[in-house]
Amino acid sequence: MAWDQLSGEQRELRDLVRTLARERIAPRAAEIDESHEFPWDVVELYRENDIFGLFFDEQHGGLGTGTLVALVAIEEVSKVCATSGLILAVQELGSLGLKLAGTDEQKARWLPRLASGEWLCAYALTESGSGSDSAAMRTTAVRDGDEYVLNGSKRFITNAGVASVYTVFAKTDAAAGHSGISAFVVESDTPGFAVARLEPKMGISGSTTGELTFDDVRIPVSNLLGAEGEGFKIAMRILDRSRPGVAAQALGIAQGATDYALEYAKTRETMGRPIAQHQLIAAKLADMETECEAARGLLYRFGQMADGDVPEAELTKASAMAKLMCGDVAMEVATEAVQILGGYGYVKEYPVERFMRDAKITQIYEGTQEVQRLVIAREMLKESRAFLLAGVA
Ligand SMILES: Cc1cc2nc3c(=O)[nH]c(=O)nc-3n(C[C@H](O)[C@H](O)[C@H](O)COP(=O)(O)OP(=O)(O)OC[C@H]3O[C@@H](n4cnc5c(N)ncnc54)[C@H](O)[C@@H]3O)c2cc1C
Repeated sequence: MAWDQLSGEQRELRDLVRTLARERIAPRAAEIDESHEFPWDVVELYRENDIFGLFFDEQHGGLGTGTLVALVAIEEVSKVCATSGLILAVQELGSLGLKLAGTDEQKARWLPRLASGEWLCAYALTESGSGSDSAAMRTTAVRDGDEYVLNGSKRFITNAGVASVYTVFAKTDAAAGHSGISAFVVESDTPGFAVARLEPKMGISGSTTGELTFDDVRIPVSNLLGAEGEGFKIAMRILDRSRPGVAAQALGIAQGATDYALEYAKTRETMGRPIAQHQLIAAKLADMETECEAARGLLYRFGQMADGDVPEAELTKASAMAKLMCGDVAMEVATEAVQILGGYGYVKEYPVERFMRDAKITQIYEGTQEVQRLVIAREMLKESRAFLLAGVA
């Protein structure tokens, strides 16, 4: 088993989640995938075992155990079911706006219900015409006395229809570009708010992905997160901290696929011996395990940085690197797992085809792999390695 950088307490929490994942979630994974139904029983399991609490501090009803353990929890669950891992990752994604930019009053109002899992949450940035270029959004929020009035729509929103509270980004000043965007908290029962449709998908089938519509949605001014015009910065700060959640989901898929392929290769025989003893298969397994371990190094490093005293600006590159690496490893490794199972890898009786379908989304959401590369390169350009040129005429 892989070496890890966890303390005794962190290991205990990992083992608790690992046991729940193996004993309670794994037996449901294929069914969740086939039914395309949101797994409320998994949410209930998390509630009963205080698993959502891993993502919140003690002041707001959480366990206060930090980022690394939270990432490990997503990884452990995603080893058996990526949809169930995503439920945890999105509880973080959807609550980060409040954690990073909320007032004490806003935090006290919403975070305890999210920490207990009584309410699920969501993050609504993307629109049909603006994904990677999120600042091109068209949803508007117009101030009217003590209220804002929201109009427009959001596309591809995870937890659409199951979340009770949404972090929504909208233009408060259409002419001001990035600085004209603001962030709001919108509760799902607000008149004018609706889930217009849910998308059938390639993978993570139990997760809902939907279109939200805002038709003169009136929310109090007290639902504004941060100051007016700070929304884009808040959206990016959230992504710096949430992308590692996707990385953890991806790593879980990759390790789950590796573990399954290994066990299969030990028992499947061709030409008189287990396929694991054919060098070409053994080499694949070795590469898969090595890629997982390398990806884990970047992910856990982010967790340790976030739990330490590292300035927030330094998280941006580490976060993008973890997401880029883990997402690419997940796709590569899951595809190899299918190859190792041969024809059995391609049919639904075995889980690796599900791992392969689930892996793909980790290269797309919360910023595509291309966007991660742009972010990493941009951060590199800010750094100085000028000493290398010293002495060069
Ligand atoms: C299942 C699912 C769940 C999602 N959940 C959420 C959610 O909860 N909340 C939310 O807000 N959004 C969510 N999204 C949206 C997701 O984050 C976007 O789909 C993603 O950011 C890409 O945006 P796009 O689809 O508009 O693609 P586009 O931005 O149109 O990109 C198309 C292609 O062009 C590339 N590209 C774009 N710009 C550049 C560039 N400058 N340089 C190089 N290449 C570029 C992209 O990498 C991609 O390959 C979800 C999407 C899916 C499919």
